[in-house]
Amino acid sequence: MKILVTGGAGFIGSNFVFHMLENHPDYDLVVLDLLTYAGNLETLKDVLDRPNVRFVRADIADREAVFGLFGEEHPDIVVNFAAESHVDRSIEDPGIFLRSNVIGTQTLMDACRKYGVTRYHQVSTDEVYGDLPLDRPDLFFTEETPLHTSSPYSASKAGADLLVQAYHRTYGLPATISRCSNNYGPYHFPEKLIPLIISRALADESLPVYGTGENVRDWLYVRDHCAAIDRIIHDGRVGEVYNIGGHNERTNLQVVKTILKELGKPESLITFVRDRAGHDMRYAIDPAKMMSELGWEPTTTFDEGIKQTVKWYLDHEDWWKNIISGDYQQYYEKMYADR
Ligand code: NAD
Repeated sequence: MKILVTGGAGFIGSNFVFHMLENHPDYDLVVLDLLTYAGNLETLKDVLDRPNVRFVRADIADREAVFGLFGEEHPDIVVNFAAESHVDRSIEDPGIFLRSNVIGTQTLMDACRKYGVTRYHQVSTDEVYGDLPLDRPDLFFTEETPLHTSSPYSASKAGADLLVQAYHRTYGLPATISRCSNNYGPYHFPEKLIPLIISRALADESLPVYGTGENVRDWLYVRDHCAAIDRIIHDGRVGEVYNIGGHNERTNLQVVKTILKELGKPESLITFVRDRAGHDMRYAIDPAKMMSELGWEPTTTFDEGIKQTVKWYLDHEDWWKNIISGDYQQYYEKMYADR
């Protein structure tokens, strides 16, 4: 079995590579990543020399590169993590989100149609559903919730999801889609809330919290997400959407305070800043379909997961300090200059 993992040098993609190597050591993995600012090859350094891992630097929206790679590798399964993923950046500059997230998805699926795959899996997000009101804790996103996007990021992800469903219906592409809630864990890029708070709190810097910090996110430990995708690509039904989440709703302020407590840092570091434009109030996933149909359930509670994550950032200061200094971007040149 050969799996093409796109975006495998990013946060969730790299954790998926580790998950697959641990759980399916007989599989071949081809990791394709453009190494944008969010991709870090250093994350994969311990696995790059394995005989069943190949890394290729390429853009999923580059037809020639993608078709060339499919022609060489003939993957059985494609799991597409590659995307521009930061909402704030999409508000500043939406164009690149359309290219990578929509055209990139189309390009990969066209290659799948030409070369044939047993499964194309699109890694999507709960943000395609928009948000829920704070005063209706009884409401959750199901797979039937209409798409109703708020940011250029979520709109680009929803556009890609609709294209995947169209390719399944029109061309019979054996495709599945998963929509997961917010992930956290090792190798999370330090611009995102949890690692940002950890790294800034460690340096006793002020901790920016949008608005009043009341926005609710539904947090899932990244390895639980990876295990869910593993289930879907093997046992999920083609043409289906699967919501992934662990019923771990927390306000942003609760998350920040939990991290401060874990680090023994004072809450006086918290600084409320102007809210994000169009900021979604609450995300909450109903994962019943994943649980009943595929027997998946999360194994890490938020309390355990946040402890493990804080410990990981304390033990891996070099990894995130390299990112903050910008040095990580030279890693590819160092690793591959003489190959
Ligand atoms: P990330 O930003 O950490 O990683 C994205 C990776 O994709 C990076 O390595 C980057 O270099 C690569 N990439 C970007 N554009 C590319 C292109 N055109 N061609 C090839 N590679 C490209 O993001 P992440 O948090 O790991 O998210 C991965 C996927 O999961 C995304 O599709 C995202 O929408 C989805 N998702 C994320 C979350 C979350 O909480 N982080 C939750 C649900 C879904």
